[in-house]
Amino acid sequence: MKLTSTKIIATVGPSCSTPKMIQSLVDKGVNCFRVNLSHGSQKEKESYFKLICSLQLPSGGRPAILGDLSGPKIRVNGLESSLELNDGDIVTISNKLKGRTVIPVSSGVKFQKVEEGAKILINDGRVELEVIEHISNSTLKCKTTIPGIVENRKGVNFPGIQLDVPTLTEQDKEDLELALKNGADWLALSFVRSASDYGLVRSRVKKLGYTVPIMAKIEKWEAVQNLDEIIDIFDGVMVARGDLGVELPIERVPKIQQDVIDKARHVGKPVVIATQILDSMTERPVPTRAEVSDIANAILEGADALMVTGETAAGDYPEKVINVLTRVIKETESNIQYHDHPISRGNKKLITARAISHAACSVAYEQDIKILVTMTHTGSTARMVSKYRPSARIVAMTPIESICRQLSIVWGVTSFLVKEYNSTDKIQDVVNEVLIDENILTSGEKFVVTGGVPVGVPGTTNYLSVIKKI
Ligand code: ATP
Ligand code: MG
Ligand code: MG
Repeated sequence: MKLTSTKIIATVGPSCSTPKMIQSLVDKGVNCFRVNLSHGSQKEKESYFKLICSLQLPSGGRPAILGDLSGPKIRVNGLESSLELNDGDIVTISNKLKGRTVIPVSSGVKFQKVEEGAKILINDGRVELEVIEHISNSTLKCKTTIPGIVENRKGVNFPGIQLDVPTLTEQDKEDLELALKNGADWLALSFVRSASDYGLVRSRVKKLGYTVPIMAKIEKWEAVQNLDEIIDIFDGVMVARGDLGVELPIERVPKIQQDVIDKARHVGKPVVIATQILDSMTERPVPTRAEVSDIANAILEGADALMVTGETAAGDYPEKVINVLTRVIKETESNIQYHDHPISRGNKKLITARAISHAACSVAYEQDIKILVTMTHTGSTARMVSKYRPSARIVAMTPIESICRQLSIVWGVTSFLVKEYNSTDKIQDVVNEVLIDENILTSGEKFVVTGGVPVGVPGTTNYLSVIKKI
């Protein structure tokens, strides 16, 4: 059976905090869990990591964990009970004052650049305020222009205004360490503005003795402007449509999504589409037609993974959400002729590694071979093969557990842990063992295998063979 290729990332939260519920999400198709480090105490965050580490994937091992660093997001902070705002209601936004009509926000922000008439958006733009008086650098008087309910910990955006905030907050530094120590396989950095944000996180990760890949969340206009450089340096990207649609006019989001997917695909880095994927299912058991179309379109555009947030973290139907995602992915993929659209290598001459990866896909296609095995130590061979979106199933074999998990968000890749090998002569034995154990091929069937020798050096994909399974 051909498995689905588009991956599912689900955010954990109170709605999936029992082992039974979360294991059920894995069984229904979740490949990776996101821990949003913006929410909960350090102890609660740690308990989510522990919970995910105790799970079991159908292909063996545990699901991957994406630790999402909240970055300098301003949030409602300290609101005792939800506040219902009607059109025209006057409220105060402050990081000093308290009171019945005060929306307290995170400390540390200064409002000196916020002028009268500026818009303030709460909870991904569900509530909108307009500043009517700049009272001080810590307090603004506002009028409600889009009514709704304001809850504690929801995000507060000041579109188009540059507030003086660092890339990594003190909270992020603590969270980064917590995530690494508790098994994060990927990190996501929120509010990336330029390529230089990468070095800042990378050096911290390195200092703590880790090598996990770092994904850039594209959710600021500066990131859209610096997209090429950001994609070049980061290990993956996420289109974080929640904040993106608040920082920029909402109608720009679809084209930006397509551009990010195209650019990331071009360089063979995973691209994740997030936010409001099945938003209506937070409270209802069925999706809207528009949501289903949006999912299908993201798949057609070539996304590696789709990520749900509040739907599984705090929604009423987390299992149904994953069922719907799986169904739409299956149906949509079954209508795509993978081998004859994106396999083109374009007009450019390819370096050896890319040429071999491309050739592996062509050989599989020409010979109608269903399994494409990639032997990989850094994941780079598997990512390169995935970039060409072959119709054959990509089976990555690696002796490194963390690489197995990192690949779980990459389009079409199923990974298996194998014994260490150090020459091409050994590849056949290693591969055969897994194919037999996992019942992936029947005797006499052919498979394509590609990899790099010497092992462990990224980009050394230089080996390609067609083997008949014994
Ligand atoms: P971000 O900007 O990082 O996306 P967010 O506040 O929008 O932050 P999401 O992860 O997108 O958070 O999830 C949507 C909603 O789900 C949150 O606003 C929150 O109400 C809820 N949620 C997510 N994770 C948790 C958690 N660990 N505990 C409690 N609620 C959570
Ligand atoms: Mg969000
Ligand atoms: Mg965000």
